[in-house]
Amino acid sequence: MILFDRVTKVYPNQQVALSGLNLHIQPKEFVTIVGSSGAGKSTLIKLMTREESHTSGKIIVGGLDYDTITPRDVPLVRRRIGVVFQDFKLLPNRRVGENVAFALEVSGARGREIKRAVPKMLQLVGLSSKEQAFPNELSGGERQRVAIARALIRQPKILIADEPTGNLDPKNAWEIIELLLKINRFGTTVLLTTHNKEIVNALKRRVITINRGRIIKDEEQGRYTLEGGK
Ligand code: ADP
Repeated sequence: MILFDRVTKVYPNQQVALSGLNLHIQPKEFVTIVGSSGAGKSTLIKLMTREESHTSGKIIVGGLDYDTITPRDVPLVRRRIGVVFQDFKLLPNRRVGENVAFALEVSGARGREIKRAVPKMLQLVGLSSKEQAFPNELSGGERQRVAIARALIRQPKILIADEPTGNLDPKNAWEIIELLLKINRFGTTVLLTTHNKEIVNALKRRVITINRGRIIKDEEQGRYTLEGGK
């Protein structure tokens, strides 16, 4: 469960990025977050992953109260939340399998465990045949699949996909969305941010619209109602 109770974030330059934001997301939900540039989406994500800390209010994620966690708890937070980005952020000099394994290596997993887990994860994202490829030998859609496999290898309860289709053509974008839906069916909470109007409207899932650091709309089977959008 993700709970934000009157959360405000003021950056050191006095910029108010979130203002008394209330948010409640149940386990296994699939939620899309939309908002114009500067609305506060990235800040919301950075507070969840503890890349930034909030100024006031309460944040509880998976039973962890962010007011009481110490720097030593941050790796625990990160293990519960996988994140994928628009620009994939793969290691260019490592093969696909190594990119995925790396996330387990840094958490101290044993070699045997890694050898077992990586092929399973590549199979889930449909990339079994690409284990030995380098990222620059893959299409954008395939790179995003690698990033998703890497984010999931530690079995997080929550997957945040921050504009995952922003660099993809419509066909690849849809394949990534289908994959996120599959992952959600397997029981992972998925938080998606996107500017893609077609995707939001076709998903018919919960849509939260943020504007100037506040939630202005929160609807089951919501629609994309911002100006612009692709
Ligand atoms: P979005 O992801 O929806 O584009 P952001 O969360 O990045 O929105 O930004 C929300 C507001 O906070 C904007 O006004 C932005 O300029 C400001 N902001 C974001 N990051 C910082 C930062 N590190 N320092 C100061 N202001 C920031």
